[in-house]
Amino acid sequence: MDIFCRIANKEIKTDLLYEDDLVMAFNDIHPLAPVHVLIIPKEHIESIADLEDEDEKLMGRMIMAAKKIAEDLKIDSSGYKLLFRVKENGGQEVPHIHLHLIGGARLSENIKPIE
Ligand code: 5GP
Repeated sequence: MDIFCRIANKEIKTDLLYEDDLVMAFNDIHPLAPVHVLIIPKEHIESIADLEDEDEKLMGRMIMAAKKIAEDLKIDSSGYKLLFRVKENGGQEVPHIHLHLIGGARLSENIKPIE
């Protein structure tokens, strides 16, 4: 079972910033910026590439959760980055969909292809 399934099942205790019937959110363990939150579906879906048509509502919910968390953390007016990494070339390390919400500082562009 991947680490985010274990967090979703509450086998691993994590301070939750947001939870509803479909998604939950918590701080990234290795933050890249003052705000670095991960939003995950409670259901196990490996990556964006594995989504089905019926997951449309879930994905909308993930974005709306990110918007609400950004408001709660007061970074909505300064702005932020939302990022999905997808599979190997996308740099995805945890095989459970997660949306990165990154902000609280001006962010550099460092997602360059590896030569
Ligand atoms: P990816 O590279 O798959 O898009 O991002 C995975 C993210 O999950 C990384 O930013 C990493 O720091 C974070 N992460 C990995 N394991 C854990 C964990 O056990 N707890 C938390 N809170 N974050 C984790």
